Amino acid sequence: MSDCIFCRIVNKDIPSKAVYEDDRILAFYDLEPQAPVHVLLIPKKHISSLDALQPEDTELMGYLMLKVKDVAKELGLENGYRLVNNCGEDGMQTVKHLHFHLLGKRKMTWPPG
Ligand code: AMP
Ligand code: ZN
Repeated sequence: MSDCIFCRIVNKDIPSKAVYEDDRILAFYDLEPQAPVHVLLIPKKHISSLDALQPEDTELMGYLMLKVKDVAKELGLENGYRLVNNCGEDGMQTVKHLHFHLLGKRKMTWPPG
């Protein structure tokens, strides 16, 4: 989708600082980090939100979830981390391309705001 900022990052129309990439997913640093480590993991396929997932996305999502620990290890998050998905209006999702925030290197608080 040409009007989607994360699709444009996938297509290299917009630069990003990648930490992991293969044919199905991309992980790159968030522009406005909310923790010392703040990376976004996205499927390269445009899926607008968690709520838009279809049965045919099952394998892709499983693949992405299994990559989280590899990326976390690569980034030195051996002490733990938080994985966040903001979905829809109440979830405060601002970019309408499914993404997971991987946050680490600080103690998180609970409940989230
Ligand atoms: P969300 O509010 O969950 O939709 O998160 C969107 C995230 O994308 C925010 O944390 C933004 O800082 C981040 N973001 C927006 N544009 C870019 C960009 N060009 N490169 C990296 N991160 C971005
Ligand atoms: Zn997109």
